[in-house]
Amino acid sequence: MSDPFRWPHGARAAVSLSYDDTMPCHRTLVAPALEAHGLRGTFYAPPRDDLMAHSAAWRAMAARGHELGNHTLFHPCRREVPQADDWLATWNNLIHFDAQRFRQELRVANFILQQIDGQTARTYGNTCHDVWIGPPDAKQRIEPILAELFVAGRGERTQQPTDPATCDLHNLGTSAGDGHTCDRWLEFIQAALDSGGYCLLTFHGVGPGYERLQVDDGEHTRLLTWLREQQERIWTAPVIQVAEWISERRADAVAGRRD
Ligand SMILES: [Zn+2]
Repeated sequence: MSDPFRWPHGARAAVSLSYDDTMPCHRTLVAPALEAHGLRGTFYAPPRDDLMAHSAAWRAMAARGHELGNHTLFHPCRREVPQADDWLATWNNLIHFDAQRFRQELRVANFILQQIDGQTARTYGNTCHDVWIGPPDAKQRIEPILAELFVAGRGERTQQPTDPATCDLHNLGTSAGDGHTCDRWLEFIQAALDSGGYCLLTFHGVGPGYERLQVDDGEHTRLLTWLREQQERIWTAPVIQVAEWISERRADAVAGRRD
C-alpha cells in the first residue's frame, strides 16, 4: 500500500470552498465571514454587474488572499435537449462552441480578471459543471483547453472526494453545497478525511435574497467555525493553492524527492 498523500503541516485532508457567479453576497457577506474565521475561498467570477460596479472591492478581496477564478465571460452551458423555459440563450449553448471560440472566451475572461487582481495564474470553475463543447455528434472535452490556460479546473460534480495522487488536475471533481445544510457538507468533508483526499465544495448564494442555489447563512457560519476548529487536520485553502500543492508533490514523486 502506498503512503498517504502528504498535505501541508501534517493535515489529513484538504478543503476548498468555491462560490460561483459574482453574487453581491460574495463581496458583502461571504468574503468577510471567511476572513473572520481565518479562511480564504475561491470566487468563480464572471464579469457581471457586481464586479463591474464594485471592482475596487473585488480587487481588495483578492489582495486579502481570495482567489478570483475564471467562470467564462457570459456563462455558456450545455443543453443538448432544448427546454421551453430554459434560461440559456441559444447562442450561449456550448453545443455551438468550437475549441477556438471557447478558448478565446476564457482568455478574455482571464484578461479581465488580471485587470482586477494582477494575477497571471488562476483556476477554472466549470459552468454548470460542463466538460463538453461542440455538437452531440462531434463533441470534445474541454480539459486540453483548460490545461493550456489554467493551473486546474474544478470539473464535474462527483459528490465524492478527489484523490490527489491520481486526479486529473483539470477535472478535479466537486461536491454540491447548494440546498444543503452543514451536516451534509461535513459528510463530504468526512469522506475526504477518511481517504486522505480533497473536498472541493461549490456554492452560489449565501443568506437571504436568492431563490435557488442558496444556502442558509447560519449553516454556512457553522461550516466556517468547524473548519477553523479543525485546521490542524484539515487544510482549507483556495483551489489554486491546493492544485499547486498537488502538482508540486506529484513532481516530487516523479523526481523521487521525499521532502
Ligand atoms: Zn455559474
